[in-house]
Amino acid sequence: MIQSSIAEEIVRAISPIDGVLIAEVPTATESDVEAAVAIARDAFESWSNQTPVERANILQACATQMRAVAGEVARALTLESGKPLMEAEFEVAAAADVFDYYAGVARTRGGRLAPQATRTSTSLVIKEPLGVVGAILPWNYPLLLWSWKAAPALAAGNTIIAKPSPETMLSLPLLLESLELPEGVHQILQGGSAIGEALVRSPGVDKIAFTGSSAVGKKIMALCAQDAKRCSVEMSGHDAMIVWDDVDLDLAVEAALFAKFANNGQVCTAAERFFVRDTIVDEFTKRLAARMSELVIGDPLAVGTDVGPLASFAHRDRLVDYCRRAREAGAEFLMGGEPIDAPGAYFQPTLIRGLGHEQINELGEIFGPVAPIVPIETFEQGIAYANDNRFGLSCNVLVGDLGLAMKASWELKVGTVWINNPLPDNYAAPFGGFREAGLGRELGEEGFDAYTESKHVWIEHGLTSQPHWYNAR
Ligand code: NAD
Repeated sequence: MIQSSIAEEIVRAISPIDGVLIAEVPTATESDVEAAVAIARDAFESWSNQTPVERANILQACATQMRAVAGEVARALTLESGKPLMEAEFEVAAAADVFDYYAGVARTRGGRLAPQATRTSTSLVIKEPLGVVGAILPWNYPLLLWSWKAAPALAAGNTIIAKPSPETMLSLPLLLESLELPEGVHQILQGGSAIGEALVRSPGVDKIAFTGSSAVGKKIMALCAQDAKRCSVEMSGHDAMIVWDDVDLDLAVEAALFAKFANNGQVCTAAERFFVRDTIVDEFTKRLAARMSELVIGDPLAVGTDVGPLASFAHRDRLVDYCRRAREAGAEFLMGGEPIDAPGAYFQPTLIRGLGHEQINELGEIFGPVAPIVPIETFEQGIAYANDNRFGLSCNVLVGDLGLAMKASWELKVGTVWINNPLPDNYAAPFGGFREAGLGRELGEEGFDAYTESKHVWIEHGLTSQPHWYNAR
């Protein structure tokens, strides 16, 4: 019996909707981690030896299996995270689409033939799977961000061990139960930072794929560096939305509303800093406030609810603290700023003005339903403010002028620029952050390559003496 220094605990899963206990989940121990890694290493032998087309067929079947259980899984996701059922259904559907996309990539993306270095040689670039991948997941999109890792990792021939966040432990196991994957190819370990760290430290894990906060991501990068372990990290965001004066104002307000309140602001790419042309800022703010007051806040399982509770009571407390610090910094609260008096982790949609962009930077990531508005005099000032931030995950721009749209596309130093349509994902295009928002990319062909090693094979067409060999000098 292996002695485990990480003991099993029971995590009480409390629904943020009403504070009711919905499950008690035992966490893994350190010996569970090592057992899971051994199983994953064994399974790697056969999984990596399947042809890419065989793996693609299995992934595509998984997508179908996910769609068959989407209703049940979405409900579990809403119960544990508080996100409106419609958004949970979208999340399961999107995870299935990601599996479909990477089934296609597995069928079509091989290595390559490099240009010849000499006329008597051929250079092949072979793509090989890395081995065992540890996927460490956040609570805001526990299924979507899992699929961004699991689908390409499996498509490339790796096996995977996923560790959900302790705040959302229920939906992923439920989804995985429905998937017909070969034994040991995909496992789940439940637990918090100790289990996450054990996975990172395990010598049998070849790569860590992490999504979460920058503070934890940097720790993981440092741990991985000790063993030169591969890692890709998607970390915090503090993204901007630039609103120019040549767009339809009501539509701009609708776009802003979605960029801020989708998943109750708990989107890593949510708009957290609104830079609005000074000539329209008062009217924009007035109309945004009017639409915010029309949002239907309530039971996320009920049809017609726009915004549910925050994902946990602890997170609601973080929002209370953010608003306290914003008040101390001199913010004017035009709306909200307080928890809603209800049994769940609800928080008022909040609109603030009066802080400069440096002060908003200083306050840090919001990750919730608070919208700070800052006037800008020029488009260039909007770009400069957007770029002047530790994080560079994404930026939304609402603008009619094509020249300005292209200027923003080239000059914004962020991983994704959305012009006139906030937050959509294109699974075929890369996603990731500049600066402290991350390292590496998910999605697209880049997100597939992140789970492979590139090997160069030089094939000389016959053993003949070479001019640089000692015998020929
Ligand atoms: P978090 O960093 O607290 O936790 C993320 C995961 O890491 C969890 O599974 C947690 O248990 C695990 N963990 C914590 N400490 C660890 C350690 N020392 N070693 C190994 N694992 C450890 O983040 P969170 O609160 O779950 O998520 C919110 C954050 O995630 C926000 O900052 C948000 O911006 C970010 N996020 C980023 C993206 C992106 O794509 N860039 C997407 C979603 C969320």
